[in-house]
Amino acid sequence: MQSVGIIGAGLAGCEAALALAREEFSVTLYEMRPEKMTPAHATGLPAELVCSNSLKSTELPGAQALLKEELALLGCSLLALAKRCAVPAGKALAVERRAFSETVLTALREMPNIIMETRDVSAPPAGHDAVIIASGPLSSDAIVSWLTRQCSAESLYFYDAIAPIVAAESIDMSRAFLGSRWKPGETDYCNCPFTDEEYDAFYAAITSAETTERHSFEEERYFEACLPLDIVARRGKLAMAYGPLKPVGFEDPNTGKRPFAVCQLRREDTQGGSYSLVACQSRLKQGEQERVFRMIPGLRRAEFLRFGSCHRNTYVDSPSLLGHNLSLKAMPSVFLAGQLCGNEGYVESIATGRLAAMFVSAFLSKKECVAPPPTTALGSLLLHVTGSPVRPFAPSSFHFGLLPPLDPPPRRASKKERHALLCDRALRDARQRVGA
Ligand SMILES: Cc1cc2nc3c(=O)[nH]c(=O)nc-3n(C[C@H](O)[C@H](O)[C@H](O)COP(=O)(O)OP(=O)(O)OC[C@H]3O[C@@H](n4cnc5c(N)ncnc54)[C@H](O)[C@@H]3O)c2cc1C
Repeated sequence: MQSVGIIGAGLAGCEAALALAREEFSVTLYEMRPEKMTPAHATGLPAELVCSNSLKSTELPGAQALLKEELALLGCSLLALAKRCAVPAGKALAVERRAFSETVLTALREMPNIIMETRDVSAPPAGHDAVIIASGPLSSDAIVSWLTRQCSAESLYFYDAIAPIVAAESIDMSRAFLGSRWKPGETDYCNCPFTDEEYDAFYAAITSAETTERHSFEEERYFEACLPLDIVARRGKLAMAYGPLKPVGFEDPNTGKRPFAVCQLRREDTQGGSYSLVACQSRLKQGEQERVFRMIPGLRRAEFLRFGSCHRNTYVDSPSLLGHNLSLKAMPSVFLAGQLCGNEGYVESIATGRLAAMFVSAFLSKKECVAPPPTTALGSLLLHVTGSPVRPFAPSSFHFGLLPPLDPPPRRASKKERHALLCDRALRDARQRVGA
C-alpha cells in the first residue's frame, strides 16, 4: 500500500486524510497539538474551528454555497460531517464546534488505514511516497523555517482576529431581540440595536481603547473580510454602521423603528447557551474588550466565555512555489494544502485539502489528473492559488470575481441574476468533470 504523510490535522489535513484513506492509501496524519499548541487553538482535537463557528452560506446563488455544492459532488467528508453537527444559523451552515471536531475524530479513527501521530514536524517525514503540508496559518516555526529554506522563498503573513463569545444567559433580552436579517420570523441570531447616542459612545470608546502591541518589525496587514472592528471604526464614524454593524433588515421591537446600528450575535451551540459577537474581532486588550463591548446595548452584564485575539497568519508565495497540482515545483512529491497554500477561509481550506488529495492520488497512481475547469469555484480558486499574477501575492477566499466573465455577457441582468448564471455554468461544468 502506498503511503502518504499529512502534516496538520486541521480542516485541509483531515479532509485530505479521509479522501486518501477511502482510496486505500496508507495515511499518517501528524498533528502537534495538544503537545504543542498554537496561539489560537484551544483543544487537541482535529479540525478545530479557531474563530467563527460558521461555514457560511448554503443558499444559491451565493459564492460560498456554490463552493459547497461543488465539494459535495467530489464527496467532501468534512462538510457532510459538519451537517451532522449543525446549529440553527439562517442561510448559513454553522456547527457546534466541539461536536464537529469530535465527529471528525471518530471518522478518522474509523479508518483502519489512518494512523495519527502527535508531533511538531520540522520537515516532510521520511518513509512516505508523498507528503501534504497542511499546517495552516499558525504553522509551527519549525515547518515554516523548513519551507523558507527549501524553497528559497519568503513566507508571507497577515493578521487574523478572533471575535469574543459571551454566555447567552448574561445577555439582556429586554434590549436585545431574536431575529434574522433576511428571513422574517426566524430567530437564529440575537440582535443588539443601537440608538445614535449609544453608537456615538461606542464609536468613541472603540477608537480610543488600548490595543495589543505588534512587534515593531511586523507590518500590520489584515484580510479585508475579517478586519478588526477597531480598524473599521478608525476609517470613519459611520464605517461600522454602514459595514459590519449595519441595521438593514431590522426593526427594534421595543421602538418599532429601524435601529441606528445592530450588532449581531451568532449561536455557538445547539442549545443557544453561548453566542459569538459577529464582526467584533479586534486588537483590543482583554480588559478593554470587556469595557468596550459591554457598551453594546444588551451586553452591559455580558459574561465573556472567550475573549477575542489577533494572530499572525502565515502563507507562502504559492504561484512562484507550486505547480498547477499544488506540489512544490522543487519537490514534486510534496504538496501544500489549506490556508498555508494561499486560500483564505474554512471551506476554502477544506477545498484545497480535497484537491490536494485528488492530485496526490493521481501522482501516486501515475495518472493524469485533470484540474476542475476554471469556470468552477474549485477550478478558479486553484488558479488563484497556483497562478495569481498579482504581486505581492495575496490569499483569497472564493468570490464570483475569481470566475471568468459570462460569454456572451447577459444584457440588463441584476447582480443576483448574474450570480445565478455563474452558478449554473459552474455546476454544469463541475458535474461534467465528475461525470455526474
Ligand atoms: C486567528 C484566526 C481566525 C480565523 N477565523 C476564521 C473564520 O472565522 N472563518 C474562516 O472561514 N476562516 C478563518 N480563519 C482562516 C482559516 O480558514 C482557518 O485558519 C482554517 O482553520 C485553516 O485551515 P487549515 O487546514 O489550513 O489550517 P488549520 O485548521 O489551522 O490546521 C493546521 C493544523 O496543523 C497543525 N500544525 C501546525 N504546524 C504543525 C507542525 N509543524 N507539525 C504538526 N502539526 C502542525 C496545527 O496545530 C493545526 O491543527 C482564521 C484564521 C486565523 C489564524
